[in-house]
Amino acid sequence: MTVSGAWERTARGAMLLGSNGQLRPSIFAEMSALAVSTGSINLGQGFPDEDGPEEVLEAARQAITDGINQYPPGRGMPVLREAIATHQRRFYGLEWNPDTEVLVTAGATEALTATLLALTDEGDEVVTFEPFYDSYAAVIGLSKAKHVTVPLRAPDFQPDAADLRKAVTDRTRIILINDPHNPTGTVLSKETLSLIVLLAHQHDAIIVTDEVYEHLTFGVPHIPIATLPGARERTVSISSGGKTFNTTGWKIGWITARADLVDAILAVKQFLTYVNGAPFQPAIAVGLGLPSSYFLQAAGVLQGKRDLLTAGLARAGFTVTHPQGGYFVIADAAPLGFTNAADFCRALPALAGVVAVPVSAFVREQHVEGYASLVRFAYCKKMELLEQASTQLKQLQH
Ligand code: PMP
Ligand code: GLN
Repeated sequence: MTVSGAWERTARGAMLLGSNGQLRPSIFAEMSALAVSTGSINLGQGFPDEDGPEEVLEAARQAITDGINQYPPGRGMPVLREAIATHQRRFYGLEWNPDTEVLVTAGATEALTATLLALTDEGDEVVTFEPFYDSYAAVIGLSKAKHVTVPLRAPDFQPDAADLRKAVTDRTRIILINDPHNPTGTVLSKETLSLIVLLAHQHDAIIVTDEVYEHLTFGVPHIPIATLPGARERTVSISSGGKTFNTTGWKIGWITARADLVDAILAVKQFLTYVNGAPFQPAIAVGLGLPSSYFLQAAGVLQGKRDLLTAGLARAGFTVTHPQGGYFVIADAAPLGFTNAADFCRALPALAGVVAVPVSAFVREQHVEGYASLVRFAYCKKMELLEQASTQLKQLQH
């Protein structure tokens, strides 16, 4: 499809469209379509292939039956805002006022978009890690801020302190972190988090933290940056029910932040979606109130899946890194003779009946060196499927 008119020649069109002016689907949509058209196992887009807790699903059905089908309040339904505030206190000891310091959004995606549009001016700098989740660059571009990155390098993908110090300056408006990190599976150490808080203070920057995988870490604690001394007042924390409750299609996300920051973000959010997902909001409230055993079990099950796929990829001949959290593992295809992961991922359905995503999709073109042969595989899938994929990937050695 060609987008008609001159939009493709505008700065936004040039940024969001492909080089030939064609509408370019996100890498995740492209790879899911490839999986469907080739009948391949989809380890590309990160979504679970099993339903989450029955209590949560039933609460949504019940809400529809009970007539919770019209616009909810702009800030989100009180029952969900209460549940978010209670969750933050219960797991992290953070106190947020559900009436003024909590905002429900259309997924973490809208939370990120509204936050960046609300809090940056043209020319402000936004610092992120690189590789970064694809919507970050698009939204920073839409906001007309400048995107500055700190590389995460294999094999451990931890940021270097000197790189962080160099990237954050008085021009920095926002330090946007993602912890646990997509695509690398890195969980930030307390030292790194402390340095980020220090730099935010030194340069009067706001910290925005995307913690959608907050409950999915493996043997290492998740430390919300807002819990560090001096961080709460300058941090916008973002999460979502999608990963925690296997409900990525519901798009119920949220923000916790100081009341004046929430107001600024709400001022933008009300003109993006206004509101969303009325019957899903009380259902996610039920999820947030589940016993701790649910959250521990969810992480435990996913850890087993990580271990299964990681071992399968290693047997197939990849060099595999060790994710500490999230849905994804990064594997280097170079030992198998593939130096360009984008070409490799396009060929993979024919070679092994599997779909994956090249890490280059999370890196800007000029920074691709060091990432070119890396491939992201999602392990948030059924055990049988991961086993089948591992078996099929062994064909790459022949
Ligand atoms: N941030 C990260 C790091 C993600 O991986 C995703 C994708 N699931 C999102 C944000 C988007 O979350 P949501 O589906 O809640 O909008
Ligand atoms: N977060 C998911 C991933 O990283 C995809 C979400 C999307 O398709 N936008 O695979």
